[in-house]
Amino acid sequence: MPSVARVPQVVIIGGGFAGIAAARQLRRAPVEVTLLDRTNHFTFQPLLYQVATGALAPSDITAPIRWILRRQRNTRVLMADVRKIDPRERTVFIDDEMRAISYDYLIVAPGARHAYFGRDEWEPYAPGLKAIEDASEIRRRFLLAFENAEKSENPVEREEYLTFVVVGGGPTGVELSGALPFIAKKALAPDFRSIDAGGARVVLIEAGPRILPSFPEDLAGHAAQDLRDLGVEVRTRSTVTKVERDGVYIGDEKIRARTTFWAAGNKASSLGAFLDAPLDRAGRVQVNPDLSVPGHPEVFAVGDLAVIMQDGRMVPNVCPAANQQGAAAAKSIIRDLRHQARKNFRYFNKGDLATIGRSRAIADFGKVKFSGRLAWFLWLFVHIMYLVGFRNRLSVLLQWSYAYFTYQRGVRLITDVERYKPPTDQRPPFQR
Ligand SMILES: Cc1cc2nc3c(=O)[nH]c(=O)nc-3n(C[C@H](O)[C@H](O)[C@H](O)COP(=O)(O)OP(=O)(O)OC[C@H]3O[C@@H](n4cnc5c(N)ncnc54)[C@H](O)[C@@H]3O)c2cc1C
Repeated sequence: MPSVARVPQVVIIGGGFAGIAAARQLRRAPVEVTLLDRTNHFTFQPLLYQVATGALAPSDITAPIRWILRRQRNTRVLMADVRKIDPRERTVFIDDEMRAISYDYLIVAPGARHAYFGRDEWEPYAPGLKAIEDASEIRRRFLLAFENAEKSENPVEREEYLTFVVVGGGPTGVELSGALPFIAKKALAPDFRSIDAGGARVVLIEAGPRILPSFPEDLAGHAAQDLRDLGVEVRTRSTVTKVERDGVYIGDEKIRARTTFWAAGNKASSLGAFLDAPLDRAGRVQVNPDLSVPGHPEVFAVGDLAVIMQDGRMVPNVCPAANQQGAAAAKSIIRDLRHQARKNFRYFNKGDLATIGRSRAIADFGKVKFSGRLAWFLWLFVHIMYLVGFRNRLSVLLQWSYAYFTYQRGVRLITDVERYKPPTDQRPPFQR
């Protein structure tokens, strides 16, 4: 273990689920904490698709990191982009100037980005959903498609504008595709004159044999049926081979669509590559059982950046795991300082939930599994409760109730129109 004489300096990279949990765990520890995040806010990612579909505003699911940790005297927050880590020198480098910050302990929690399986050129035509900017971009494209369809006089083009493809049948793809037909039918259709907005076509494409592979087969089957009932075309065993501005290819077949969203696959932050540790195919750091990085007991990789096995299965990259890992890494630091032995990380799975459309969901609690409206209420309750500690809980509940009971979407502004160029030179919402 590192020998430390002065107040130990703990640097945390990332103010997401794992980074915030680590910082909170250290609030009474005899250390000085520096939390670095390239944005000034924490994002509650499970509700990103609600922003993407206009039910919630960006401010409903974000909170300033500085505000979250305002009562923590031993913690400073710096809005800084970490560019490089030198684990041998125990230093991280931030921003363009590559300013150096030294640490005694480092918790690396920068999360992941969506990945295009090496086909990054698809990103301009098929944005993914990971950050608040992505959600705003998806909302903008979704709403713009209806505007363009309304003003088009070419029936083929209209149909292309009214076709939406979602690539990836995991929870994000399912949530997104399940929400779109409903909004088109209930919130948008009455407002358009030349088009049948309610007849918008939504196609969900999944390469594997079924959607929601992380859920039991029967529940995933319910979800697929729910999606079909909502009007979504679910295409399984279909690998996307090309994405263009006006459509998506599955082999030789082209689905003509002007709007494609990407929800298929993640790539861990590139910061993992600086840690002198083995990475898996998704760029995740293969950590020790105590979440430390091999060869560097003073460095921990946690959350979506880390890969760790438990009982023969990979601990999933989900919020509860990120939370628990962030807290566990912090506890290991505290145990070190007390000269106690570290404990191995153990993930406690509280259960999995995924929502489909307006009021359906599936719930998997191991022995207890169910679907339908009850699961949806549970999903709602869990997500509202999770926002505890972030000030927006009441606002979210009010916005949601508005959207639920009036069938309307509160957030339908199309902003940043200037940035919208003809699709040939569309660029990704923002480059990282
Ligand atoms: C659309 C979507 C829906 C999801 N739905 C669910 C769900 O329903 N249930 C569930 O449990 N999980 C869900 N997840 C997964 C869950 O959100 C992640 O597992 C979790 O956020 C991982 O936490 P993290 O702390 O590792 O990373 P993140 O929460 O992603 O936080 C990483 C932080 O690091 C910062 N950062 C990154 N790079 C740098 C850098 N170089 N310098 C400085 N700062 C940096 C980022 O700005 C960010 O604030 C969903 C994810 C997405 C994208």
